[in-house]
Amino acid sequence: MKIICIGRNYVEHAKELNNPVPTVPVIFMKPDTAILKDNKPFYHPDFSTDIHHEIEIVLKVCKEGKHIAEKFAANYYDEIGLGVDFTARDIQQKHKEKGLPWELAKAFDQSAPVSNFIPKSQFSDVYKLDFRLDVNGQTAQKGSTANLIFSFENVIAFVSQYVTLKKGDLIFTGTPEGVGKINIGDRLTAYLGNEKLLDFEIK
Ligand code: ZN
Repeated sequence: MKIICIGRNYVEHAKELNNPVPTVPVIFMKPDTAILKDNKPFYHPDFSTDIHHEIEIVLKVCKEGKHIAEKFAANYYDEIGLGVDFTARDIQQKHKEKGLPWELAKAFDQSAPVSNFIPKSQFSDVYKLDFRLDVNGQTAQKGSTANLIFSFENVIAFVSQYVTLKKGDLIFTGTPEGVGKINIGDRLTAYLGNEKLLDFEIK
């Protein structure tokens, strides 16, 4: 499986990092070795001193597809969860300055903690999902899918023009504002609506 991530999909987050608001989705990927499940602790690597949390809605792809039309795109994911797109901001910044790819800042081991997934059918409107990340009990990030720049269907249609989607692939759909540095000893908890889906420690 693969993990496809959307960068800058919420206006306020693009602004907080002084990035332009995109007119087409910004795409990058993480390998399957980035997955961290079952609320296992994240072990802070020593190659970065500025790893940021980015809480995101994650879609699970349920069937193979390429060149998917936007009007059928909703049929290609059937479960929704939460994930954290850990980002080594110091490494990313250096690569951005040189115009180089971001992989080292985004694709490292354990850089994609994911929750359990909930069937899409349990949500009356996937564009009215509130989610948040608390760090040590204080809310750091709060988002709503009502504020997405690119809809889930839009993202699926766009990505599948280039990359075939397969059952089990995950799509990280972008983070709202409030990204920030994590520290050893922090406890991260994340909620989709009122349901706690992530609860893990930084070690
Ligand atoms: Zn992200």
